[in-house]
Amino acid sequence: MRQLLLVFTLIGVFSCGEKKEEDTTVYFTGEIVNPTSDYVVLFRNDIVVDSAKLDEDSRFSFRLTAIQEGLHHFDHDPQQQYIYFEKGDSVVIRLNASPAYFDESLVFSGDNEEVNNLMIEMFLTYEDEEPLVYSYYPLSPEEFSAKIDSLRHQKLDELEQLLATTELSEKALEIARAAIDYNSYLYKEKYPFYHKKKTGETTIDKLDSGFYQHRETVDLNNSELTFFKPYYDFLKHHFGNLSYTLCNQYCGMEEFSTSQQQLHLNKHKLALIDSLVTEPKLRDNLFRNVAMDYLLKVHEANKECDLFINKFEALSTSAAHKEEIKHLYKGIQNLQPQRELPDLVLEDADGNPVSLKEIAKGANTIFYFWTSDQKRHFRNVTKRISKLKKRYPKHQFTGISLQTGRLEWLALLDENGVSTEDQYRSTDFKETQNALIVDGLNKCIISEDTLIVDAFANVFYLSSTDF
Ligand SMILES: [Zn+2]
Repeated sequence: MRQLLLVFTLIGVFSCGEKKEEDTTVYFTGEIVNPTSDYVVLFRNDIVVDSAKLDEDSRFSFRLTAIQEGLHHFDHDPQQQYIYFEKGDSVVIRLNASPAYFDESLVFSGDNEEVNNLMIEMFLTYEDEEPLVYSYYPLSPEEFSAKIDSLRHQKLDELEQLLATTELSEKALEIARAAIDYNSYLYKEKYPFYHKKKTGETTIDKLDSGFYQHRETVDLNNSELTFFKPYYDFLKHHFGNLSYTLCNQYCGMEEFSTSQQQLHLNKHKLALIDSLVTEPKLRDNLFRNVAMDYLLKVHEANKECDLFINKFEALSTSAAHKEEIKHLYKGIQNLQPQRELPDLVLEDADGNPVSLKEIAKGANTIFYFWTSDQKRHFRNVTKRISKLKKRYPKHQFTGISLQTGRLEWLALLDENGVSTEDQYRSTDFKETQNALIVDGLNKCIISEDTLIVDAFANVFYLSSTDF
């Protein structure tokens, strides 16, 4: 569930709870095969509840005397997964933390094992189904709807079978249903946009209300699910879809490509969230998401952006989010064309510190990114770069590796026959991500000498007119 994007910054606050009656204590224990860190950290929403150190047998144990019932998640850096507790529960997990096995290997046993195992199973099923669902997007609304409903019903049947033999509390049942429903609803909210893209149609189809039947029952203010990714992703796309449709219908907007049009759309998106969402944390998270999306999409520094940020600041109640957005905007301002490249220091193959400006000096450079975690991307981008090198022999193509340990980095370059000459490693991911606004791995930065030409280009869509 790891994402390289600018996702939630989880701000930790340790809470020390009062002692409750013994039978409400929750025990959360487990064993981690191939651990990737020394700790397991437990969260309720964005708050750290407690952390446990692994012992020499890679086991951990939490004894939680003052815990809120409901959805939590645990981190075993860099991975995380959800867990559901009720008072008095004793839950045991077993898990292999190697990146390739993390989710597949996770097994819960003990109290509420059914809902916890169902959550992980649904997560994996939806992941497996994704290519299939993408292949359905060109279908007509009726056909698409029928396919998605049928996939959802298969999962609901599975839940029914489970309920025939196990009793779930109302709350646990709600979580189980949410793990099934929201991914399915998300597909429908995405449909008009993906359908248009896949079919090459020029307009977005008007869909009858039957297509969006879920909208009649869906809860836009579920505090329990505020930090549940399927629910949150659904809401993001729901408001995206709604504002697009409403601006189209009532504001006469047909295009959303210029920064003016984006400003209009995103101001209406903020207003829509403001009018429909009352749950405080959910509101703030959604406002933050709109602001981040907008700034990254237009990546300009102008009066429209200032206006938008004012609007965002008036609505958000989160000082941390406001600070974050201000910081992002500052980063974007620093990356405008004709500005100097940021003062950022990377490491070369010999372990020497080298600044971005030193690398770029006197050359036309394309900086591109990769990480050991996404090997397919690494192979693709390496292929792409060797093609570009042939086409533009005078340019310098410089790889920056993120979140990759030194030895792994050198081994991967060697394995893939990439010379270390133009390769550098970021030793501080957060710093690099913030300074260069790395919001996706396909991003590249074009510079001429130490000046920025385009800091928001895409390495797979470069043409000679770009540099
Ligand atoms: Zn509008």
